Amino acid sequence: MLSETHVPFWNETRTWREANLSPSRLLRMWRSELDPARKKARRMEALLDFVIPLMEDLCEATCSACSDPCCARARVRFDLADLLFMHLTDQAVPLAQSGPEGHGPCRYLGPEGCLLPRLSRPWICRWYICPQQKTLLRHYPASGQRRFELALSRIRRLRRDLEHDFILAVSPSNAAEKESASPNPQFARRTS
Ligand code: SF4
Ligand code: SF4
Repeated sequence: MLSETHVPFWNETRTWREANLSPSRLLRMWRSELDPARKKARRMEALLDFVIPLMEDLCEATCSACSDPCCARARVRFDLADLLFMHLTDQAVPLAQSGPEGHGPCRYLGPEGCLLPRLSRPWICRWYICPQQKTLLRHYPASGQRRFELALSRIRRLRRDLEHDFILAVSPSNAAEKESASPNPQFARRTS
């Protein structure tokens, strides 16, 4: 089943809004500094373009007849890399953190499956393959299976790098450098 995230975060409307406002503001402020992160997010998007059709194939073959849908028990949450990816590649950002409200199923589970577009789902929901699907995947050509695994491992690495680039770009030392490089508005007023 989809594994559980142990730390519940951004669960309330206010914290979710703040969590999303912050990167959206920072991405505007640090446009050029965040170019490396943006390029990585675009690379992730291209890799996901390869991964998603295969996931859709597997879901089409298995999910509609599933007697125990994984999303009904999932406690999956969006993390920082998910938010950065969505903001950097202009994906639709969901209105609330994923996962259950109370003890029910994930709030995004609809009658036909997940209500979110694939690129706006938490990372685990984009790659999780249940045992039934794993069996099915073994019948795919070996080269396709290898490419699929390779794409996932590249995306995992890019997610780590994305967080690293973001934290580095908006770090306090970088902010201080940026401030000292820009003209001091007080000084500008006095000399104008
Ligand atoms: S991914 Fe597997 S466990 Fe989850 S709903 Fe589809 S068939 Fe069921
Ligand atoms: S976000 Fe979508 S895919 Fe992920 S657990 Fe919730 S309903 Fe399932």
